[in-house]
Amino acid sequence: MDTNKKTIDIIVPCYNEEDVLNLFYTESSKVTEAISDYNCRYIFVDDGSRDKTLSILRELAEKHSNVNYISFSRNFGKEAAMYAGLDNSTGDYVVIMDADLQHPPSMIPDMIEGIKEGYDCCAARRTTRKGEAPIRSFFSSMFYKVNQKMTNIDLVQGAVDFRIMTRDMVNSVLALSERQRFSKGIFAWVGFKTKWLPYENVERPLGTTKWSFWGLFKYAISGITSFSITPLRTVTGMGFFISIFAFIYIIFTLIKTLIFGIDVPGYVTTLSAILFLGGIIELSIGILGEYVANIYMEVKNRPIYILKDTNLPLGGKKHE
Ligand code: UDP
Ligand code: MG
Repeated sequence: MDTNKKTIDIIVPCYNEEDVLNLFYTESSKVTEAISDYNCRYIFVDDGSRDKTLSILRELAEKHSNVNYISFSRNFGKEAAMYAGLDNSTGDYVVIMDADLQHPPSMIPDMIEGIKEGYDCCAARRTTRKGEAPIRSFFSSMFYKVNQKMTNIDLVQGAVDFRIMTRDMVNSVLALSERQRFSKGIFAWVGFKTKWLPYENVERPLGTTKWSFWGLFKYAISGITSFSITPLRTVTGMGFFISIFAFIYIIFTLIKTLIFGIDVPGYVTTLSAILFLGGIIELSIGILGEYVANIYMEVKNRPIYILKDTNLPLGGKKHE
């Protein structure tokens, strides 16, 4: 390792990636070996894989001096894996990329160019969603629209977690030490100048996606609740309008009863009102609950990840 050169840490979250890891390393090291003006170092994060991911990482680390790994005590999720990678990185620049080669390593030199041009961050943006279920693309674009309306952070459509960042930006990202992490929002929230590089979706060569539909849905909800209180305001607004409407309706019915006497029928109206309000109340409690749950998780202040094994010096960063 040339100590005069600046270092780039490449963080790769891995969960059950035994099929693709060796291929990933071969492909990406072709690119990183050609980068002559920086030292490139890998930090693989084994996110509690149940397959041979960790032993493959150990083998890679034995064979190649630029390979480091950290391994969790269980599966903490990709967000935690990315955080751990950043937390344990010391490089002047940090790249985050997936292990499944869906983030083309060939883009790394272009990203470095972006940094040389003076950007703090250079990130990839998918322009097509080829090979993805149409229903997933539909919900995904819905999510961007809703998120855009509700939060004042600017999420870029198609942005993926493949990027290079300067140390300053990484430190800012780490300073947001929330437990319920939504990195796409965090990257946007910290600001800094980002250059976007478009690319076409690449299908996974091996292995399968780790996301279930339900998993993505929960992720989308946390994306909104961790950056916006608009849903809470909406509940307040809804309550306000319903109260005004109810008040006018009561006055109206009172006057009508005084003039025309008691009108007995009204079963359907009563039932509709009860059901409608019941629905709204349930929904409001649910929305409130999402925020209470977030507070609950944050207040417990549990570590974002638990390290079990690593080949990094000092056993990775010490945790308080
Ligand atoms: N991943 C992880 N922990 C998880 C799920 C996924 O570290 O709990 C990693 C996975 O190994 C991969 C990346 O996150 O490197 C993206 O996962 P995947 O390819 O399943 O997601 P997709 O590309 O379908 O969005
Ligand atoms: Mg993938």
